[in-house]
Amino acid sequence: MVIALTEGVRFLQSLGDAHPTLMLTGKPLRDQGLVVDELFRLGWKDEVLWELLARPLPTPLRKDVSAVLAKRLSDALVSPVPGPRRAWEDAREAPPAPRRHVAGADPVIRRAYECQGDRGMCGVPVAAEGEVCPRCARMSEPAR
Ligand SMILES: [Zn+2]
Repeated sequence: MVIALTEGVRFLQSLGDAHPTLMLTGKPLRDQGLVVDELFRLGWKDEVLWELLARPLPTPLRKDVSAVLAKRLSDALVSPVPGPRRAWEDAREAPPAPRRHVAGADPVIRRAYECQGDRGMCGVPVAAEGEVCPRCARMSEPAR
């Protein structure tokens, strides 16, 4: 039998190389290779299909391996095409965390307050409006 080495046939051959129990030859290889070609045309990614086909075989194995693979492939044909692997990975990632405050990145410029002691001439930075620096606080005490 002459088997055209389509993408699907080559895919099944490499699957058989990696998993000798899943090796197909002859007519099953040609037939299922056509199904794989069809799945690729539908947008199935080879790594997704590989995982699907490389699942452990049922035990005890009551059917021919080619029948098991044929069943898996025909199930895949009627299943929705899995999204691209990339999107699948993105969907598994947690939603982006709220942006953390980064020191120095605050767009609101903190208003600088200056000590108004010493008749407004001090100018030492203070934490809040109306505060006076420790030096002016001490100096103003006797005046109270
Ligand atoms: Zn002051």
